[in-house]
Amino acid sequence: MDTWQPPQTAPPSEGPLLDTFGRVADDLRISVTDRCNFRCVFCMPAEGLKWLPKDEILTFEELTRLLGIFVSLGVRSIKVTGGEPTVRADLPTLVSMFREAGPELDMSMTTNGILLDRLAEPLALAGLDRVTVSCHSLMPHRFEGMTRRDALDKVFAGLRAAEEAGLTPIKINCVVIGGENQDEVVDFAAWARRFGYVVRFIEYMPLDADHAWERAKVVPSRQIVDAIGRVFPLVSEGPDHEPAASYRFADGAPGGIGVIASVTEPFCETCNRLRLTAEGQVRSCLFALEELDLREPLRSGATDGELASIIRTAVWRKWSGHRINHPDFVQPERSMSMIGG
Ligand code: SAM
Ligand code: SF4
Repeated sequence: MDTWQPPQTAPPSEGPLLDTFGRVADDLRISVTDRCNFRCVFCMPAEGLKWLPKDEILTFEELTRLLGIFVSLGVRSIKVTGGEPTVRADLPTLVSMFREAGPELDMSMTTNGILLDRLAEPLALAGLDRVTVSCHSLMPHRFEGMTRRDALDKVFAGLRAAEEAGLTPIKINCVVIGGENQDEVVDFAAWARRFGYVVRFIEYMPLDADHAWERAKVVPSRQIVDAIGRVFPLVSEGPDHEPAASYRFADGAPGGIGVIASVTEPFCETCNRLRLTAEGQVRSCLFALEELDLREPLRSGATDGELASIIRTAVWRKWSGHRINHPDFVQPERSMSMIGG
């Protein structure tokens, strides 16, 4: 059994954030809260989770200082996420602080969209470039079943506001679950064409807090591409820097589709991601079983150099890839909303 062994060597003390497999981490997901106003069935239980106490969450100043260090280490793009990032009070102020720390950063946000109708404009003015809005059904009743919130109209209003604020191109994240919404993939593609969205279909991953994930509910991305391609012929855009394999419509219609095949076609070999949780743990993989703490050293006077060295170590210790498809797979203790997807 080829279980992961941490490297015995030390990371390089300069240059890009490298791991022992030669991958460079330059894309950071920053979770700004573990809280959420939805209860998606594939993520969180109906009663929610035990939220972190406020004093355990990094402050705006702490998050911004860490971001500055990540940028000095070569991070070029960030995704603000959560939990639901828009429930963090005064988010536009944080985004403007991030923009100051990284004027050249590509900065986007993943959100459930419910508060975007009032936040899109202030976020765009604060320096956010784009949004990805999660939407798992275009049918109000089914949307409510999957998110446990009757909120599809609010999400549509949020999407309109994002468009008006110029937070474009808009991406849509749609988690596809067998027996729930897989019959909607062609409707999503038609919707993408109508509004110019890039809809990314995500395979259901074993990161739900309820541990209800079953392999039988994973809809292979290949099937999704084939089903859409039969109705709207697709042209592959080839590999890009995203985990999604992207396709445009052969007839030149606006928008496009992408598939994130984390389970059936893992893309670990080219992964350039790194994650910071809301309470300051750095994780080198969604499925990592270890994380390194930045908050305690940050709060007890560590220098930027010392914090950078912890980040370098976390990346250096990144494993070759997740083990979802191995018999020894262990689901991480943190579920998706506590990591920052
Ligand atoms: N609350 C925001 C949202 O839902 O967009 C951002 C955080 S959420 C954890 C990030 C992404 O992870 C969302 O697109 C969500 O649909 C997706 N996600 C959550 N649980 C998942 C699971 N078990 N498998 C695959 N994707 C999941
Ligand atoms: Fe909240 Fe996003 Fe998880 Fe849904 S997927 S419960 S919106 S964190």
